[in-house]
Amino acid sequence: MSNAAAVATNATIDTADRGCRGPKWCRADKRLAIYLRDGMACVYCGTGPATSESATLSLDHLLPNSKGGSNEGGNLVTCCGRCNSRRGNMDLGQWLTVACGANAAKIAALITEHTALDLKPFRAEAKAIIARRIAA
Ligand SMILES: [Zn+2]
Repeated sequence: MSNAAAVATNATIDTADRGCRGPKWCRADKRLAIYLRDGMACVYCGTGPATSESATLSLDHLLPNSKGGSNEGGNLVTCCGRCNSRRGNMDLGQWLTVACGANAAKIAALITEHTALDLKPFRAEAKAIIARRIAA
C-alpha cells in the first residue's frame, strides 16, 4: 500500500458526494482517487490529514465550473477547506500568486504533472479502500 493509501485508510476523510451541481457531481471513489493522486494533501499549501488533524480535503476546479470548467479529473485537484474558501472565483494564475507566492511556478508545474496522470489506477485503489471500509 502506498503512503497516500495508508493515510486514506486511517484518516477521517470526507468522501461524501456533495458540492457543485447537486449531491452526485463527483462519486466517492473518484473523489478519493483524486485525493490519492495528489498525495492526500492540498496541492496549493500541502495541508492534509497526515500533517494536520483538523485538515479537511475537498476538490477544487482548476477552471471554475462557473467558467465552463469540467468535472473531469484533469480539471480537479485536492484542496484544503481553507484554500478552497480563500480562492473563491479567482483565476488560477491569480490564485497561485496569492496562495503560493514565490512558489507559484513550482506549484503550477506540480499541478500539471498530477493532472496529466491516468486516474484509473488511483480509482482502483480508491474503490478497494472504500470496499474495505464497507466490509469492516
Ligand atoms: Zn490548502
